[in-house]
Amino acid sequence: MEKISRRQALQLTAVGAAGVAIGGCATGNSSRGLLLPTEKKPVLTIAHLTDVHVKPEGKAAMGMRQALRAVHSLPQRPDVIFNGGDAIMDALATSKERAEEQWALWKQILREENTIPVQHCIGNHDIWGWQRTKAGTTGNEPLYGVKMALEQLQLEKPYRSWDRAGWHFIVLNSMQERGDGGYKAVLDDEQFEWLTGELNATPKETPICILSHIPILSVTPFFFVKNIVKDYRFDLIGALAHLDVHRFRDLFANHPNVKLCLSGHDHLTDRVDYNGVTYMCTGAVCGNWWSGKFMDCEPGFAIVRLYADGTFDNTYHTYEWDPKG
Ligand SMILES: [Zn+2]
Repeated sequence: MEKISRRQALQLTAVGAAGVAIGGCATGNSSRGLLLPTEKKPVLTIAHLTDVHVKPEGKAAMGMRQALRAVHSLPQRPDVIFNGGDAIMDALATSKERAEEQWALWKQILREENTIPVQHCIGNHDIWGWQRTKAGTTGNEPLYGVKMALEQLQLEKPYRSWDRAGWHFIVLNSMQERGDGGYKAVLDDEQFEWLTGELNATPKETPICILSHIPILSVTPFFFVKNIVKDYRFDLIGALAHLDVHRFRDLFANHPNVKLCLSGHDHLTDRVDYNGVTYMCTGAVCGNWWSGKFMDCEPGFAIVRLYADGTFDNTYHTYEWDPKG
């Protein structure tokens, strides 16, 4: 048993565990026990920071700084940070100037507080102007939609892949414009074909980790449901997980080396093991959009350790930050 520091919570994993677990983010050493595979050395350690939602107002900037300081003061320095998306508070319904102001703050804090390489995933709130009335956009602006985030994060495309430490990594773009100012959580045919080609081209002995902003599969949407007793049904909110989950399920069934799918967006933590693939939603750096805990989840980030044999473990770390301080 390995002890992790105070206020670090939930051991979500236990390598090889089966079934579905949801864990909120209880503080203090987990009473469930921390059976970490100390005999194995990870080939890669990822700090997964998702849903930072930084903005100039209030305590957001300090919170982002504190989260990055917590990452850098870990006993074992992560090899890479995965930015899970929703880096800024919102660009969907804001002017170009307001969106760029938030991106400038994001980049300034990264420059000042971070020395670890970052891999970026784009979130729905990183997309500029899809809520056209509120944003004052027409759809014809050069940086409309995902283009502003690509420029700010210096990415060529919103989805991509790379190899590292014996694993294959894939970043997806979860959002498609819905046409009425909102978004839907699906891959378009072009991206899905690209993903299929990626899986086909990866040797079957190479484990694959997929990062998406919106969960491909998650139990967290159940906790957003209201009025179950009144309606005698779960009326799940469609924006909280991928609507094309069946398509992913069928694709992954042909590729047993797809091991791990990481996501954010729902600001809660869970782990779903389904048909040989583990899906983890890893909380939110901003918690309840910088006003404290969101449902069962304290503001925090995940440390995900990958092993050469395709296994992994995950711990959720809170950090010192007081919304009222
Ligand atoms: Zn989101």
